[in-house]
Amino acid sequence: MSVKTRFAPSPTGYLHVGGARTALYSWLHAKANDGQFVLRIEDTDLERSTPEAVEAIMDGMRWLELDWNEGPYFQTKRFDRYKEVIAQLVEAGDAYPCFCSRERLDELRETQMANKQKPRYDGKCRHLSADEIDLSQDHVIRFKNPQEGEVTFKDVVKGEITISNQELDDLIIARTDGSPTYNFTVVVDDRDMGITQVVRGDDHINNTPRQINIFKALGAPVPEYGHVPMILGDDGKKLSKRHGAVSVMQYRDDGYLPQAVLNYLVRLGWSHGDQEVFSVSEMIELFDINSINKAPSAFNTQKLDWLNQQYIKSLPVEEVVKHLQWHLAQAGLSLDSGPDIAELIPEFAERVQTLKDLVEVIRPYYSDFESFEEKAAKKHLRPVAKEPLETVKQKLYDLAEWAPEAIHAAINETAEQLEVGMGKVGMPLRVAATGAGMSPSLDVTLKWIGKDKTLQRIDRALDFIRQREQSA
Ligand code: GLU
Repeated sequence: MSVKTRFAPSPTGYLHVGGARTALYSWLHAKANDGQFVLRIEDTDLERSTPEAVEAIMDGMRWLELDWNEGPYFQTKRFDRYKEVIAQLVEAGDAYPCFCSRERLDELRETQMANKQKPRYDGKCRHLSADEIDLSQDHVIRFKNPQEGEVTFKDVVKGEITISNQELDDLIIARTDGSPTYNFTVVVDDRDMGITQVVRGDDHINNTPRQINIFKALGAPVPEYGHVPMILGDDGKKLSKRHGAVSVMQYRDDGYLPQAVLNYLVRLGWSHGDQEVFSVSEMIELFDINSINKAPSAFNTQKLDWLNQQYIKSLPVEEVVKHLQWHLAQAGLSLDSGPDIAELIPEFAERVQTLKDLVEVIRPYYSDFESFEEKAAKKHLRPVAKEPLETVKQKLYDLAEWAPEAIHAAINETAEQLEVGMGKVGMPLRVAATGAGMSPSLDVTLKWIGKDKTLQRIDRALDFIRQREQSA
């Protein structure tokens, strides 16, 4: 049977890292087996589902390039189908109308709790005779869960799990208004869509035996299940907003590459020897749902930072630039107004961990900076720097060709002529040109900034020094 997996988010918020990880595992399993991957939006909770959340989830998936072969299917568009299957189950005697009032059920629950029993429906309406059934009265539909025996399944993550049917009561599959309930719609969909493997969070593990019983009643093949342990924060508690970003798109906004996020997520609960860096094609080749970790994993931002830097360093420049564009737009920068970015990225990759940091370090090459870094200015833009700056400015102005060798020579000659060390010329010049005390080698830096801008910025630094002198 060909492999078909799905990601089935409830659209009640953004795509969070836990969801993205189960989506990735399902996607990888499909890709690795030449299978299909389905996106299904579980939007039956009308109060909590929003169209914005649907868009946000799909944006996250698209950004991670987790493409789906089918869907998005929307459960709210499949109500007729669910009704049809409910009718089939009732017809076959596997489901029945239940007329028990809320009061009766509350009472039942209280008595059971008082007797230290697990609250469960007692099956009162299971055996109503035809003349006791009046479908014009308010009723729900319950699934007739087997009362004997047990449900056993082999979870690909957790191993064999067995639950006695006595633990499970007769689940409501349609509410009084006829709307279907979660555990039922999931089964109808997984069956209709031909899902072969279900990878999901282990918060769903208690639903699985109930779902399996419904599959069996429908005479449908039961998919394989893999319940993935939750993701913890650095304090060992379930990962939540308290720990920082949990939305995938927040990671985009914070300057992470989708390749790094995917690599990070795949390792968060799965490993292959001690390999840390996996390209997407390597993940597809090596990922195996049977080797997902049983134990919960803790989120570690430093490791994500490290991976992100690896990708900034190693991805083809065009790929980095593709993702950098969004950040440049946010910062109001355009690559058209400066040097070839392909030359800058290798120079700066070593110094930055995120694309946001990268934008900051390349900013002086594409736009004028607002002010000199205070510490650098205090140290290097002092009255003694006036003469070196004026001299080097003249020499730079005289250059026929704006190339690193010529720029280097101009700086050198200035130092020799004034009989000072290179640093006495270079540092004020660096702060003048970039606003900061750190940059790649000055000859390349100035080449990137361009001749006109360099000269203007030296003037600006000289003005700055004079103003400070006057106000001192
Ligand atoms: N819609 C469920 C959720 O978002 C997932 C159900 C499933 O994967 O079976 O938690």
